[in-house]
Amino acid sequence: MKYISTRGAAPIVGFEDALLAGLARDGGLYVPEEWPVLSPDVIRSLQGAPYETVALEVLRPFVGGMDMVALKSMIDRAYAGFGHRAVVPLVQIDERNWVLELFHGPTLAFKDLAMQLIGLLFDHVLEARNERVTIVGATSGDTGSAAIEAFRGKARADVFILYPHNRVSEVQRRQMTTPTEANVHAIAVEGDFDDCQALVKAMFNDFEFRDSMKLGAVNSINWTRVMAQIVYYATSSLALGGTERRIDYSVPTGNFGDIFAGYVARRMGFPVGELVIATNENDILHRTVETGRYEIEGVTQTLTPSMDIQVSSNFERLLFDLADREGQAVAQMMDELKTTRTMALSQGQQDRLHDGFSSARVDRATTLETINQTRRQIGMTLDPHSAVGLAAARRKARPEHPMVTLATAHPAKFPDAVREAIGVETPLPERMADLYERPERMTILPNDLAAIENFIRKEANA
Ligand SMILES: *Cc1c(COP(=O)(O)O)cnc(C)c1O
Repeated sequence: MKYISTRGAAPIVGFEDALLAGLARDGGLYVPEEWPVLSPDVIRSLQGAPYETVALEVLRPFVGGMDMVALKSMIDRAYAGFGHRAVVPLVQIDERNWVLELFHGPTLAFKDLAMQLIGLLFDHVLEARNERVTIVGATSGDTGSAAIEAFRGKARADVFILYPHNRVSEVQRRQMTTPTEANVHAIAVEGDFDDCQALVKAMFNDFEFRDSMKLGAVNSINWTRVMAQIVYYATSSLALGGTERRIDYSVPTGNFGDIFAGYVARRMGFPVGELVIATNENDILHRTVETGRYEIEGVTQTLTPSMDIQVSSNFERLLFDLADREGQAVAQMMDELKTTRTMALSQGQQDRLHDGFSSARVDRATTLETINQTRRQIGMTLDPHSAVGLAAARRKARPEHPMVTLATAHPAKFPDAVREAIGVETPLPERMADLYERPERMTILPNDLAAIENFIRKEANA
């Protein structure tokens, strides 16, 4: 499989280079040259298969010439440490609603599903090439902890994670600041998540810095993140729908990576139906679905910090398909967005967006009420992100269509919101019960590109 840029002006690369590069050199995002479609026989054969088996079949078309024995071993190792035998258990909560628990990994959020595998993929590829990388990433909380957890102690990578100072939950912060390995660094930036994201993009556009530091990215602009997330749409849609009926999904959405993986699963032939974009008060995607205009506004702090974004970077990947895969058209729209802070989708693009996606905006009160109600009705405690998903699911449910809400984080990761909703906190799982006692290590830096580049130059071994 070859990878092309959504802006059409970067070199075409193979899987390994797409993995290592993250962002394409023209500022676009790498996507596969075409969507692989699995045959109905292969899809049928995966129904009820273990997570690792489905993962191997789903990833196979994307990884080019990679050795399948090595890939299988990496998949097995990536998910061996999860706290549930099913990796991603599916829980029924009423007649038509299910919750897919994606939070049984080491940092208690769905990002572990991709990141644990990516840490191993990087090691594998860099070892073969005898190279090192400096990984930089921006996080609103969960990506950073998942990346640090996946790369801690890895010999061939230094990891620098930028997060908005004082704007992540204490559990998220401690998961980033307590690992003691010298190759991982948490940087608290005096700004918001979009500032962090802009700094990372600026580092990638500083070609001298990018090349001399051998920058790599593992935030959701990295194709491999999306790729690994396709797997749980495959397992869950087959478990509920077989090959007979399509399953709708409600996805708590920020950067649009998770839900885009659902779109890819559908393109590959899995029985995925409508994808509901569930947003909090930062509702740029909901407004885009409603009005056809993608308009940047300020960021509001909400109960769901992992969705507090202004711009959804992965939306560009969908836009590429909505624009008939014409990179030049996407580049033009992204330019327009950069200069005017808004871009308009054509009528045709809007029609294609509405064919398979819908959206709902869930406010603070509804989020709290959903956590409270779910607790009272079935004794399940949702984290606030998952609650946004479930509230959107209830609003958008179509009669006779089973609906799966993705539970993207464990409730112990966001104790303040949970306490506000139900009066008590959920304890951390036993394997990380001493998180609050471990010493922390972080660096606070201004929202300034030069200051951050200097720090990385000084600390990295690359
Ligand atoms: C990252 C994250 C999201 C948003 O996922 P995207 O892929 O950025 O849309 C939602 N919930 C939680 C808990 C997250 O960590």
